[in-house]
Amino acid sequence: MEEQLRQAERLDSLGRLAGGIAHDFNNILAVISGYAAMLSEELGPDHQLHTDAQAIEQAAARGSGLTRQLLIFSGLEPSRPEPLDLNAVATDMQRLLKRTLGDDIELTTKLSLDVPPISMDRNKLEQVVLNAGANARAAMPSGGRLTLSTSVDRGSGQVCLSIADTGCGMEPEVAARAFEPFFTTKGRGKGTGLGLATAYGVVTDAGGTISLDSAPGEGTTLTLCLPPAERAAGPSTLVRRPASGGTV
Ligand code: ADP
Repeated sequence: MEEQLRQAERLDSLGRLAGGIAHDFNNILAVISGYAAMLSEELGPDHQLHTDAQAIEQAAARGSGLTRQLLIFSGLEPSRPEPLDLNAVATDMQRLLKRTLGDDIELTTKLSLDVPPISMDRNKLEQVVLNAGANARAAMPSGGRLTLSTSVDRGSGQVCLSIADTGCGMEPEVAARAFEPFFTTKGRGKGTGLGLATAYGVVTDAGGTISLDSAPGEGTTLTLCLPPAERAAGPSTLVRRPASGGTV
């Protein structure tokens, strides 16, 4: 118990530190990206340094994506919950997801009828789904299928969104740590290990639960379950993170 408390405190200060750094970094990246955009425009497309200036701009945009994720992870980004229809979110996100997945991954949806609205910050939910899409892409290097499905859990009455891939799956040791902040198997410079930790924070903050079901060689399903809007708590400042990873 004491160890869990220490771990929670450590994660909390880690989150605050990450959020503080992310905030300052975002400002720096905005300056880099602004000047690089100006430079590439002034040089014009025929100049030999034009692609270099564009490369700077793209790197700054990637950095900015990462700092945005750090901000959400840290809980410093305020939540603006709104009533959301998970069927509509799943449908609206198909085009963006398709872009992440590419042509060799088939995207299908299985939407349940009569899904009650949930209450959540739309940007944060989209970030969770997009990150799951990026993980699925990485897990299916030679193609496969991604299925988005919605359902209502009869026992709890919660509304669920599942994101299932037919990829490499996770070994039990990886699945047990997947929600841990900064845990990644993708190697330096490729993974941040913040995607699932952020998803955990965002979903539990909205009063929901998140779980992973994964079998090596078969695939992975990430399921988010959220209370229907009328039962959801109001905006919360409490940020909860897993004391240790695994199915939550
Ligand atoms: P990152 O993607 O930056 O590594 P995440 O927190 O999103 O961070 O994921 C942590 C780890 O969990 C990944 O490095 C990977 O090993 C594993 N993982 C997550 N999603 C999947 C998936 N759909 N299939 C296989 N492994 C996954």
